[in-house]
Amino acid sequence: MADHVSKKVIIVGGSLGGLFTGIVFHRLGYNVTILERNLPSALKDQGAGISLSTLYPPLRESFKKLGTSGSPLVDFLEQYDRTKTPSLSLTQFQYLNKDGSVKEKIDIAGKFASWELLYNVMRANFDSGYELGYVRAAGKREGDGIATYLSGVRVIDLKEVGNLVRVEYESMEVRSTLEADIVVAADGASSTVRKILLPEVGRIYAGYLIWRGTVRESFLDEETRIFLSGKLSQSFSKNSQAINYSIPGLNGSLDPAEILANCVWYSNANEEELKRILTDSRGVSHIYSLGIGKIDPNIKIEQIKAAKAILPPPLAEVFQKIEHPFIQAVTDNLAPKSVFMGGKVFLVGDALAGLRPHTAAGTAQAAMNALLLKNVFEKDGGMGIEEWEKASVDWAKFAQNVGVQMGNLSQFGDHPMADNGEPPK
Ligand SMILES: Cc1cc2nc3c(=O)[nH]c(=O)nc-3n(C[C@H](O)[C@H](O)[C@H](O)COP(=O)(O)OP(=O)(O)OC[C@H]3O[C@@H](n4cnc5c(N)ncnc54)[C@H](O)[C@@H]3O)c2cc1C
Repeated sequence: MADHVSKKVIIVGGSLGGLFTGIVFHRLGYNVTILERNLPSALKDQGAGISLSTLYPPLRESFKKLGTSGSPLVDFLEQYDRTKTPSLSLTQFQYLNKDGSVKEKIDIAGKFASWELLYNVMRANFDSGYELGYVRAAGKREGDGIATYLSGVRVIDLKEVGNLVRVEYESMEVRSTLEADIVVAADGASSTVRKILLPEVGRIYAGYLIWRGTVRESFLDEETRIFLSGKLSQSFSKNSQAINYSIPGLNGSLDPAEILANCVWYSNANEEELKRILTDSRGVSHIYSLGIGKIDPNIKIEQIKAAKAILPPPLAEVFQKIEHPFIQAVTDNLAPKSVFMGGKVFLVGDALAGLRPHTAAGTAQAAMNALLLKNVFEKDGGMGIEEWEKASVDWAKFAQNVGVQMGNLSQFGDHPMADNGEPPK
């Protein structure tokens, strides 16, 4: 029996980063408790598309240097997804001109999913699913530890107590504590744990935001559906980048009638405009994002007008037909360290580094952090804690820099693929 059996791990944050790490420790035999601030109903239907494959060559190469195939998210699913849930394969990448014609086509081999599907698959693997889940339970095997996922639990503090870490949390206004041998902070870009350990590291607004959302491809005009389906389409123009790609439909369906067009549109907004856009239909202002159903209808109408003026007609049609878009401000955050309290506390995923979404590598980063933690904690895994910290921080610095360059070029520069011509008639 391995010497770590019965050791406890607490994971702060139960989104994808927390679940990846939770699954790794659980399969190594640790007893893992995930503490998630939100209730499952708040996480449902929140996400949009996620590229499982890392398509941008410099990032693929950087992941290869860390011993992965180049797409750590694909590797993670191959190693850990006992449900073998299929994803959607896309084979073509097309750059569009403003009039909707194709500027350039590139063959790709990319796997795509939705945030919600991945969340469901990970829950099925971690704690055999949850009450709103739709992926069948993966089942427990000999050697797995105990997996517990607690929702509606907000972590507020942590302290080193001898060989353990004490985590204080609040649930329904009641404060409690739990102790563990290892704590993983997977609590996102506004991480509470990072604020305690590295109060000087914060999120910095990048000067633009993303409009996101999905619509069933079968709701698009037939010509548009055929033009976009099964592809990743992208258009650049002054201060704007818009992307559309197909993702699995509701409940992970790959039925062509259910496939979704997933739109991501980067749009510039100064601080004042950001504040106005992130003020919801009831007048409440939000700092970094505005969820489904909260956008002021007048702001949505303004953006649909802008879509018609700026985007190629097929992408403008997708945007216009999204019933419930949501908005996220683009921010940067980067921690200079990822290991604390003598190797008992680890920062992973967005808590370590919030990457610009142009990289499409945020979820891959979290998967890579988890895969490398396996090498640290598996018997004879061959990686030391210091080596893990160096690998995770160096990669985060590199990827953040790549993302800043990509974002600055598309939003504030002169992108070589931009079409700044007249809007379509
Ligand atoms: C609802 C949602 C939808 C998303 N949709 C997409 C998408 O469509 N496409 C995409 O590319 N990326 C999406 N992301 C981001 C993507 O999941 C992340 O980049 C990636 O998974 C790594 O993030 P993470 O798990 O490290 O952090 P996050 O995904 O930000 O998760 C952090 C988690 O920690 C929880 N948390 C925060 N503070 C506390 C606390 N004090 N106590 C307990 N829990 C806490 C949060 O509620 C959250 O669930 C989404 C994230 C969320 C939360």
